[in-house]
Amino acid sequence: MTSRPLPEYLVRRYQGWRATTYAGNRPWYRRLAEEGQRPRAMIVACCDSRVHVASIFGADSGEFFIHRNIANLIPPFKPDGDHHGTSAAVEYAVRELRVAHLIVMGHSQCGGVKGCYDMCSGHAPELLEATSFVGRWMDILRPGYEALPPGDDAERVQALEKLSVKVSLDNLLTFPFVRSAVEDERLTLHGLWNDIGEGTLETWDEARGEFVVL
Ligand SMILES: [Zn+2]
Repeated sequence: MTSRPLPEYLVRRYQGWRATTYAGNRPWYRRLAEEGQRPRAMIVACCDSRVHVASIFGADSGEFFIHRNIANLIPPFKPDGDHHGTSAAVEYAVRELRVAHLIVMGHSQCGGVKGCYDMCSGHAPELLEATSFVGRWMDILRPGYEALPPGDDAERVQALEKLSVKVSLDNLLTFPFVRSAVEDERLTLHGLWNDIGEGTLETWDEARGEFVVL
């Protein structure tokens, strides 16, 4: 048997949601089902369970097209016929859903970014293995590591968390359909970094070349 019954605590939570949130908004859910989704924004965030995108923005069903992966990374445009989950999500959001905003959100204490830092500084040989999916995924952030200024490790890791957002924004523009949507002012790109412990958001300010607190 490959699939087992859902744990009881999840069944109870689902039944609670069905009896309250769903029951109180049934016409809205019916409308979403009939009319399809029309989200105004796509958010690319880390898989980290502490990055609670829907809670921070008070998101209702149908509002955000959300993609999550390790360290909120967008790979460069690479149409090689292989499997590209993140690129597929970006393509669908921009070309089909025609979202107006594409937001990349990094965060503090990111395990993926720390792994990249350790790998690049020679402290995580297991991530260098060709068979490490995490390691090969974190290769996307190597240009960020190489751009880090000298300093202590904690500061450099946090700087790399923010660079994961910048690298992703730069890579987004390597997708021809993203670049043309941005140039035609049909799409705006945004970079955010969430401090988990402080509950703050910092936004990438292109003109100042730094993150500023919202
Ligand atoms: Zn993370």
